[in-house]
Amino acid sequence: MTTEIIPSAELVKADPVFGQLSFDNHEQIVFCNDKDTGLKAIIGIHNTVLGPALGGTRMWQYNNEWEALNDVLRLSQGMTYKSAITGLNLGGGKAVIIGDAKTQKTPELMRKFGEFVHSLSGKYITAEDVGMNTEDMDIVRDVTPYVTGISESKGGSGNPSPITAYGVFMGMKAAAKFQYGSDVLEGKTIYVQGIGHVGEALVEHLVNEGARVTIDDINRERLEKVSAKYGVSIYEGNDLYSEPMDIYAPCALGATINDNTINKLKAKVIAGAANNQLAQDKHGRMLQDRGIVYAPDFLINAGGIINVFAELENYGKQEIIRKTENIYNTTLEILQRAKANGVTTHIAAVNAAKERIEARKRENLK
Ligand code: NAD
Repeated sequence: MTTEIIPSAELVKADPVFGQLSFDNHEQIVFCNDKDTGLKAIIGIHNTVLGPALGGTRMWQYNNEWEALNDVLRLSQGMTYKSAITGLNLGGGKAVIIGDAKTQKTPELMRKFGEFVHSLSGKYITAEDVGMNTEDMDIVRDVTPYVTGISESKGGSGNPSPITAYGVFMGMKAAAKFQYGSDVLEGKTIYVQGIGHVGEALVEHLVNEGARVTIDDINRERLEKVSAKYGVSIYEGNDLYSEPMDIYAPCALGATINDNTINKLKAKVIAGAANNQLAQDKHGRMLQDRGIVYAPDFLINAGGIINVFAELENYGKQEIIRKTENIYNTTLEILQRAKANGVTTHIAAVNAAKERIEARKRENLK
């Protein structure tokens, strides 16, 4: 989650929407409001050159509406790059529902949200993100076909998180190969921050490989459950960033690599599932200057989108695994490209994604 500052009064006056801090030529922003169900949502469609804008719905109690708008703008842009770099014929979109998923999410609210998605006639296709699960998507499916990530029993691909975790694991191995000359994670000290749907599945891969895993979460119950299940340690301190470790895996929320944390980091590799890990682009450069290899988030967490895309393209588990394993090759390629071109790994990944979109635009013009 980003907590970027609210735009200045001058900016709001001069250019209230298109001047929004995270606005990046987004094609369409839809504000959804329904008094009866209490739905307040924003759908962000960033780019549809490669295909319909697919991206999950996040339900979160934002501090204010600017924060929600900022989040959907950044997340939908990230989805454009994620699908483009993964070679999927999808554009980038995302939705945020403002509210507490634990207390404010009702079937009526989800159905109403589905109706708003339906009104876009397939330009935006939704799926789950933080605060959502396959059952919620099943409810949305009752009112629109423009939803993925529904239950396997309803013909969907099910929970995408295990595949996301597998892709993160592949990306982490590639980053380790680049940094240490070997992709073997056995014996590496790895901190997994956030052991929710993706984090827990990542812990399982890491433990199977013989890594020394420490977990961190704000949910004590989950910490104890995951610790007991996989025999991993719980982080008990209050400044994880300063801990000696080889690899930091952010799997909770975004912007954890920021002015306050970056100089403390002892990790030599950062590879995790969270979206928008860099608070700002400059933090990518700062990591590079400190010799820390950052595996771009939108590249290595693409397993989930590969999984849900299968529902639209009708490909099976084997192809999902093959495409997800390829994250290893793409990550290595991007890290090498960044080094050769003297740019940050984040910029190298964004450039590769933009190149594919521009090539498609040129093709479409022919
Ligand atoms: P989740 O809600 O299941 O898990 C998030 C976990 O992080 C929870 O256990 C929560 O308690 C914990 N957490 C929240 N704030 C924290 C903090 N400050 N410190 C430590 N722990 C904290 O979500 P998820 O589906 O596992 O997704 C995790 C991240 O990966 C999110 O950023 C999401 O956008 C991203 N992601 C998920 C998928 C997917 O397939 N689920 C795909 C791509 C990206």
